Amino acid sequence: MNPINKLIVAVIPLFPKNVVRIFASRYIAGDNINDAVKKVKELNSKSIIATMDVLGESIKDKEEAVQSKNESIEVLEYIDKFNLNSNLSIKLTMLGLNIDFDLCLDLTAEIVEKAREYNNFVRIDMEDSSVTEKTIQIYETLRKKYNNVGIVLQSYLKRTVNDVIRLTKEKANFRICKGIYIEPKEIAYKKKQEIRDNFMKALEIMFKRGAYVGIATHDKYLIDASKKLATDLNIPDDRYEFQMLLGVKENLRDKLVAEGYKVRVYVPFGIRWYQYSMRRFKENPNIAGQILKSLITFRR
Ligand SMILES: Cc1cc2nc3c(=O)[nH]c(=O)nc-3n(C[C@H](O)[C@H](O)[C@H](O)COP(=O)(O)OP(=O)(O)OC[C@H]3O[C@@H](n4cnc5c(N)ncnc54)[C@H](O)[C@@H]3O)c2cc1C
Repeated sequence: MNPINKLIVAVIPLFPKNVVRIFASRYIAGDNINDAVKKVKELNSKSIIATMDVLGESIKDKEEAVQSKNESIEVLEYIDKFNLNSNLSIKLTMLGLNIDFDLCLDLTAEIVEKAREYNNFVRIDMEDSSVTEKTIQIYETLRKKYNNVGIVLQSYLKRTVNDVIRLTKEKANFRICKGIYIEPKEIAYKKKQEIRDNFMKALEIMFKRGAYVGIATHDKYLIDASKKLATDLNIPDDRYEFQMLLGVKENLRDKLVAEGYKVRVYVPFGIRWYQYSMRRFKENPNIAGQILKSLITFRR
């Protein structure tokens, strides 16, 4: 990142929330479930499937964890009621992972059980490295009982290839992505090409060991390499899908759909949009620059 962009990213947290919100709206479906339903219907009408996510991260007490569980179940109910082509993504710190492991396991199991009743699927997002092992353990425990649950692995983590081998001892369902959190160099690759190489290495093992894979990237290099790998290994269409974030690289997304690939878009919504949006801005300082410009205009 060039020094000007670095500076812009550093100062965005100082901007008024209402300004940040204007630009955040490209990445989030809205404040409530009805906004998200509308967005998913729009995507479905373009032959794009979705995964819905109630925004939020680490919570402080059991009551909040139970509330998060209820919100996730509500999403499953809406998906069923409106016949949407969508599954659900969840973050375990919202379900109490940092407070009480067993509570988190129980609440997550409740969500996965409900999804099973609706013939739906739950993807466990991966958060920062302080919770990687615990997240994997919850997935492993649930996977013994449920086949409608999947996990995310991050190719910037040096441990990921071992995790793929560990988890593909059973039938597994992955999302592979680069990873968005800032991690120490002792445990994470930092160079762009190293992260890409590890992505492809992990994907190849996933494919060869029979897993279903959501290939989550907007990086054309990785999309092209994944397509080629799937062809070279004769991986059938029903063993993988591409995944992208709402509001990112829509031309690339539409091209994949036109070529006949299965494409799923991550549709986050809810009132706790700030942290999610800040991570997206850090990935794309051009947007940060636009915020800065608009702020100057606002103040005039
Ligand atoms: C469906 C999905 C789910 C994800 N789930 C997780 C998760 O559970 N845990 C986790 O750590 N990470 C997750 N991520 C984020 C992921 O790890 C990366 O941080 C993010 O996808 C950017 O990496 P990239 O592979 O697209 O490559 P990049 O090299 O970052 O981007 C490739 C191209 O896309 C453009 N681009 C990327 N992001 C943006 C943006 N925000 N706005 C505009 N343009 C952009 C870039 O400008 C670049 O041209 C997820 C990503 C997706 C697509």
